[in-house]
Amino acid sequence: MTAQLTDGSAVLIDGKAVAAQVHERVRLAVAEWLAAGHRAPALATVLVGADPASEIYVRNKRLTCEKVGIRSAPNHLDADISETDLLAVIDGLNADDAIDGILVQLPLPKHINADKVIERIRPDKDVDGFHPYNFGRLAQKTPTLRPCTPFGCVELLKSTGVPLAGKRALVIGQSNIVGRPMALELLLLGCTVTIAHSRTRDLPEEVGRAEILVVGTGIPEMVKGDWVRPGAIVIDVGINRLPSGKLCGDVEFATARERAAFITPVPGGVGPMTVAMLMENTLVAARNRAGGQ
Ligand code: NDP
Repeated sequence: MTAQLTDGSAVLIDGKAVAAQVHERVRLAVAEWLAAGHRAPALATVLVGADPASEIYVRNKRLTCEKVGIRSAPNHLDADISETDLLAVIDGLNADDAIDGILVQLPLPKHINADKVIERIRPDKDVDGFHPYNFGRLAQKTPTLRPCTPFGCVELLKSTGVPLAGKRALVIGQSNIVGRPMALELLLLGCTVTIAHSRTRDLPEEVGRAEILVVGTGIPEMVKGDWVRPGAIVIDVGINRLPSGKLCGDVEFATARERAAFITPVPGGVGPMTVAMLMENTLVAARNRAGGQ
């Protein structure tokens, strides 16, 4: 277990430490892959425009690639690139045998239909796990490339060492990249799953029943600490920047940690896991493309 006892009642789930373990696992597996005579797995990153946050995310992903032995191939495109031209870039990467994974950094500029771009990526190179094929595989209990953030949350849940099967789990948020795939992952873990969203009635009551709570709404501290079931595992996916510049999650951390058994901090919880699982997915994609070796 990579969690540390805190001065409150909850054990903090240390996302940086769990991510470091995933990096090390991938680094060793890549080294073995090279020793077996294969070329390094390769991740193409596609960044459109110059959004500072997106630039940081992509740079982070590329630095982590370097750390674990994955080759990264950057594609930095102008903000005014047409949808047709962007699709042509994707087609080129799809056809390039030297590329195993394609990462299109979201959000894309408004004039580009992101769903269309995601669906254009070859499913076996879709290392973000957003393509309907990969989503469908997860829904049908045969996951291949799994959406990175929920996949990372699974690693964090497992890191607690608590048996997860049979637990009552609540996911707040039903987006395609967080809430929905998270619910499917929890089902795979054997949990009894409820999904809450903006039209859910009696949210505090739902939260009060949850032994596992995963929150991804994008609303700072919307889940109040005194809603949390004593002894729950709380995974806070939210990353919100307050006017003060400070980051906070979607859960009221200071009070929730008094009731939860385990809780993720923000930052340093789910955040580092998303990139770690992208590395894992790129390795899986390289192996699958080489015939599942
Ligand atoms: P979306 O805006 O796509 O989805 C938000 C969800 O929250 C929706 O399903 C919405 O419901 C639900 N919601 C909104 N208001 C309420 C409410 N009052 N009660 C219950 N549910 C509500 O966001 P994302 O899923 O993309 O992201 C969620 C959060 O996770 C954000 O803070 C984002 O920054 C963070 N994030 C973090 C990542 C990481 O690496 N750690 C990666 C991705 C996201 P409805 O569908 O009914 O509108």
